[in-house]
Amino acid sequence: MKFDILTIFPDFFRGPLDYGIIRRAREAGLIEVGVHDLRAMTHDRHRTVDDRPFGGGEGMVMKPEPIFECVESLNVAPRESRVSPGAKESVVLVSAQGKRFDQNVAQELAQLHRVVVICGRYEGVDERVAEHLADRELSIGDYVLSGGELPAAVIVDTVTRLLPGALGNEASAWQESFSSTAATEKAGEPRSTCASGGLLDYPHYTRPAEFRGLAVPEVLVSGNHEEIRRWRRRTALGKTLRNRPDLLEQTPLSEEDRILIARIRGEEKPGFRPKE
Ligand code: SAH
Repeated sequence: MKFDILTIFPDFFRGPLDYGIIRRAREAGLIEVGVHDLRAMTHDRHRTVDDRPFGGGEGMVMKPEPIFECVESLNVAPRESRVSPGAKESVVLVSAQGKRFDQNVAQELAQLHRVVVICGRYEGVDERVAEHLADRELSIGDYVLSGGELPAAVIVDTVTRLLPGALGNEASAWQESFSSTAATEKAGEPRSTCASGGLLDYPHYTRPAEFRGLAVPEVLVSGNHEEIRRWRRRTALGKTLRNRPDLLEQTPLSEEDRILIARIRGEEKPGFRPKE
């Protein structure tokens, strides 16, 4: 998979993509990341990439010409084919005004061969880029960052770890928080196992079994796989209920889940954390 990142700060990407899973994926040739300096696409002495906003107001706006020229120099598929079914390429503008980037969008992007990410700065990017050049506008969350470089790194990271072969253990990606039920089922595992199925991940523990008087939940050292599975489902449901109740509304729940939730709700008083 090829990522192309368009930025006025190419050096920003020395680092974020050079560690762990992403580094290994690059070294193994699973992904290739091209970072393109938008200033190289300017034609004036000052290498101008921004200008004052029409209509007045605060700050500067990124000019469209270097961004259009840079995308055109990359020979990406035309916009019409990028928005039609079966598209293999996408040009993304990262923007606080975009649709929310989440695990489902990451799954969608992971099916493509090429993703181009345009990073904004200043007050944002001339709207003609969103309207006529990019095929999606994505936001990584409801807050405003000072530039699109962190969001671009977030997208590259999230999508890469979904590519087959990126994680050492193939099962890991569909077991994690937010993994959709569809992804879970595709992996051939029935719902309501320890796979997340759209919930938050269950809590993890490692050695030592006792640390400063804090013991790990006994069930995890019991060797009883069925009990471990049930405990993991219950704690994943409990954590989702506490921290992200909105996710439960979109998640198909089994009969066992409903019983567990009723039990958790019964147990939970404000400030109470379920004991295992
Ligand atoms: N005036 C804009 C914010 C501009 S921030 C607004 O109020 O919406 C400058 C750049 O940072 C944006 O062009 C975008 O590329 C990036 N950015 C900021 N917040 C972001 C977010 N939540 N998700 C994705 N990109 C973001």
